[in-house]
Amino acid sequence: MVAGAGLAGSLAALRLAGAADVVLIDQRPEPLAGHTWSFHSGDVDSAQRAWLQPALRCQWDGQDVRFPGYGRQLRSGYASIDADSLGAALSGVAGVTRITGRVASVDAGGVTLADGQRIEGDLAVDARGFSPHPSIEVRFQKFLGQEILLEAPHGLTRPVIMDATVPQMDGYRFFYLLPFDDRRLLVEATYYSDGASLSSADQRAGIAEYAAAQGWRIATVEREENGVLPIALRFDADAFWRGIPADLPTIGLRAMRFHALTGYSLPHAVRSADLIARHWRQGAQVLAGALRGDSLADAKAQGFYRLLSRMLFEAAAPDERRHVMERFYRLPEPLIERFYAGQSTWADKARILTGRPPVPVGRALRCLPETFKVKPA
Ligand SMILES: Cc1cc2nc3c(=O)[nH]c(=O)nc-3n(C[C@H](O)[C@H](O)[C@H](O)COP(=O)(O)OP(=O)(O)OC[C@H]3O[C@@H](n4cnc5c(N)ncnc54)[C@H](O)[C@@H]3O)c2cc1C
Repeated sequence: MVAGAGLAGSLAALRLAGAADVVLIDQRPEPLAGHTWSFHSGDVDSAQRAWLQPALRCQWDGQDVRFPGYGRQLRSGYASIDADSLGAALSGVAGVTRITGRVASVDAGGVTLADGQRIEGDLAVDARGFSPHPSIEVRFQKFLGQEILLEAPHGLTRPVIMDATVPQMDGYRFFYLLPFDDRRLLVEATYYSDGASLSSADQRAGIAEYAAAQGWRIATVEREENGVLPIALRFDADAFWRGIPADLPTIGLRAMRFHALTGYSLPHAVRSADLIARHWRQGAQVLAGALRGDSLADAKAQGFYRLLSRMLFEAAAPDERRHVMERFYRLPEPLIERFYAGQSTWADKARILTGRPPVPVGRALRCLPETFKVKPA
C-alpha cells in the first residue's frame, strides 16, 4: 500500500502494474487534480520511458527558451503527464484500489488513519509529499498556470520552457508555455522567489496581459493549476534520514527527492518506482534500504545544484537572477541536458562556474560552503 497518491505514489502503482496489488490512500478524493508534470527526454532512460508512455498527455521534439535579445531552440525533447492522462493510465491497471482518508502514521506493515482505522498489507510506502524539515533550507519556485483555448492558432509547435523577456519582479520571473494543440496551451506565470506567497488575481491578470502581448485572444480559460515548489539551498541528508525508520520505504518529496534547482521531481519518482519494482518482494527492510541508499547518493550528487541555488538566491540580487539563467542557456546543449538529468560531469561544473561571472565574485565565494546558520539536529 502507498500512503499519498500524488505523483510518486501513482507512478509506483503504474510501475507495479500486474505485478502486485496496490492500495493508494490519499486524504483528497482526486489527488492528481490540477497538475501537469513534465520532464526532459534525457531525464529518463528508454525502459523508463516505455512504462511511462501510457501516462503521457503530450510529447514534443524540442523546446525553446527566450531572453531579452537572445532566443534558443533546444533539440532536447519534452513530455507532459497530467491528472487525466495519469488517471486514465492507472484506471487501466488491474489491482489498484483507492481509499480516501487522512493518514495519521505509516509503518512498515501498514497505515493508521486519523480516525483510528488500521489498514495492513505486505508492505507500506510513505509518499505523502513535501513537509518542511530542519535539515533542508529552501526557497521557492511558485507559479499559477491556466490552460487556455484561443480563438485562433497560437503558432507554437514546441514548449517554451522559459520566456524571460517579461518584466522582472519578485525574483526571477518568466512564462512557461505548453502547446497541447494548435489553439490550446498551458500558460504559467512562474517566479524563483525568496517568499512563497503569490496573488492569484495578479497572476491571472499577468497571463491575460502576456497573451494579449503575443496577439492571442483567449476564448476560454479551461482550468487552472498552481504550485509552490521547494528549491534546495542546503540539505543535510544524513540528518534527514536519521529521522526516518530504517524499514519504512519513503519516496517522492516526502524523501526530499527533487532536483535542487529546477524543482522537478518526476525523474526521481520514476527511479524510485523502478527500485520498488525490483525490491518489493524482498520486504520492507531491503526496499527501504535500497531507496535510502539511492536518496543519499543522489543528495551527494546534487551538492553542485544546491551550490547553484545558493548562487541564484544568495549571491545574485533578485533582479540579477535572469542574467544568471541567460548565461546558463548560452552553454552547449549536451551540458544543459546533463544538468536537467542531474548528471553534470566535472567538466560541466567547471564550465558552469567559470568564465565571466554573472554575480560578484565576493558574494559567489561566500556561497561555496554548504553551512547551515542553525545546525540541523
Ligand atoms: C502544479 C504543479 C506542477 C508541477 N510540475 C512539475 C513538472 O512539470 N515536473 C516535475 O518534475 N515536477 C513538477 N512539480 C513538482 C513535483 O514533481 C510535484 O510537487 C510532485 O507532485 C511531487 O510528487 P509527490 O508524490 O512527492 O507529492 P505529491 O504529488 O504532492 O503527493 C503527495 C500526496 O500525499 C497526500 N497526503 C499528504 N499528507 C497526507 C496524509 N496525512 N494522509 C493522506 N494523504 C496525504 C497529498 O494529498 C498528495 O496527494 C509540480 C508541482 C506542482 C504543485
